[in-house]
Amino acid sequence: MASFDYDVTIIGAGPSATVAASLLMQQGLSVCLVERDTFPRFSIGESLLPQSMSYLAQANMLEALLEQADELGFQFKNGAAFYRSGHHTNFNFEEKFSKGPGTTYQVKRAQFDNLLAEQAIKQGAEIRFSHSVTGFSTDSEGTVLEVVDLNTQETTKISARFTLDGSGFGRVLPRLMDLEEPSELTKRKAIFTHFKDNICDSQFDRNKILITVHPTLPDVWFWAIPFSDSTISVGVVGETDQIVKGDKDLEQTLLSFIKEDDNLSSLLSDAKIIAPVRTIGGYSANVKRLHGDNFALLGNAGEFLDPVFSSGVTIALRSAVQASELVIKQLNGAPVDWKHDYEVPLREGIDVFKYFVNSWYDTSLQSVIFFSDGQPDVKAMVCSILAGYAWDKENPFVKNTERGLRILQQICEPEDTSETMASVI
Ligand SMILES: Cc1cc2nc3c(=O)[nH]c(=O)nc-3n(C[C@H](O)[C@H](O)[C@H](O)COP(=O)(O)OP(=O)(O)OC[C@H]3O[C@@H](n4cnc5c(N)ncnc54)[C@H](O)[C@@H]3O)c2cc1C
Repeated sequence: MASFDYDVTIIGAGPSATVAASLLMQQGLSVCLVERDTFPRFSIGESLLPQSMSYLAQANMLEALLEQADELGFQFKNGAAFYRSGHHTNFNFEEKFSKGPGTTYQVKRAQFDNLLAEQAIKQGAEIRFSHSVTGFSTDSEGTVLEVVDLNTQETTKISARFTLDGSGFGRVLPRLMDLEEPSELTKRKAIFTHFKDNICDSQFDRNKILITVHPTLPDVWFWAIPFSDSTISVGVVGETDQIVKGDKDLEQTLLSFIKEDDNLSSLLSDAKIIAPVRTIGGYSANVKRLHGDNFALLGNAGEFLDPVFSSGVTIALRSAVQASELVIKQLNGAPVDWKHDYEVPLREGIDVFKYFVNSWYDTSLQSVIFFSDGQPDVKAMVCSILAGYAWDKENPFVKNTERGLRILQQICEPEDTSETMASVI
């Protein structure tokens, strides 16, 4: 039998990679992560969903998060608030339909990713920071990564029995293995930064992400993600031609968008920018398949949808949990059907979020979210999905998302009431 440097190599050391590493090491496997950057480093994706807390617990990382949250400026989060032209509404995640954690955190990703990486190292993972994966080969026995040390430019090869790609927007294996497939979602762009917020409005709930719909462009929206150290992450999202404003620079563009909304501009009236204003565009991505011979794609290296419901890290961690179970099974000699056991069930939940994302932008979901007379049990089911429980088939809105939302929309915008909610639940 061939000998390998490690049982498993993982590309990247973001959340999907470090959680997968921890779960693999719990079963005694040797794991090497190859990370292009040095940590801590900035990353976007700061508002977590409660469902992700159970995946961090499985990876033995939750305790460290709870212990260090205050010191790192992470903000306790218990829901999502929405605002559109004078109308406020909110979802309290603790009132969700599904079982499981109902609270989570809004995190500074530099510190969050670093914390998870430290935990993975503590549990025995080797992480090669400042190393970029530039090549990959696989055969029936195992895989080889070609890796460049970014300090010395020296190239080395690392062999393993299996490789997981957690390279996120780097999309290493989709590019090297010709797996890229255009996303069905419209290309959008985000402009964002951090502020010292100086918010003194006592009505402002720091325990919730605030999503604001632009007053005149219903498919343009803002996030406001408070942290516990009086800072806040704010971003605006829309199609490129909506977001690019003549020859204004990024900072002027973001500030002029904020000014256009009465609530956000009043909340941030004394706020001061404390970080570079950044932009990212065309982030929605997909792949032909999430697996191949001795490799599988995690998180954003597979499909990425859209930031609107903060589902990215939850999907990334879910993929890590599902894939690690199957890697362990395969390396123990059992047959694994990666399509049936990994891709299909993972995509079921991703498709629930995708339906929510599309319905947000065509505004039908906005009608549901801002509908004030909703039935509490139905609201709890929608709330479950907003809290990340998109794989809970006990939830009728997971089992039948399209039909459930269509009927709800009819109730909220009554024209045709031929179907009833009782027929869904
Ligand atoms: C505008 C915007 C806002 C978002 N907001 C949220 C939010 O509020 N909540 C949320 O949950 N999600 C959010 N997301 C999504 C979130 O950013 C991602 O889903 C999440 O970070 C994915 O985790 P990951 O582990 O798959 O990849 P990543 O976190 O991207 O980690 C990938 C790692 O791989 C490394 N890497 C890349 N290429 C190479 C290479 N060649 N060699 C070695 N290493 C490499 C990178 O340096 C990086 O450290 C947002 C996304 C966008 C675009």
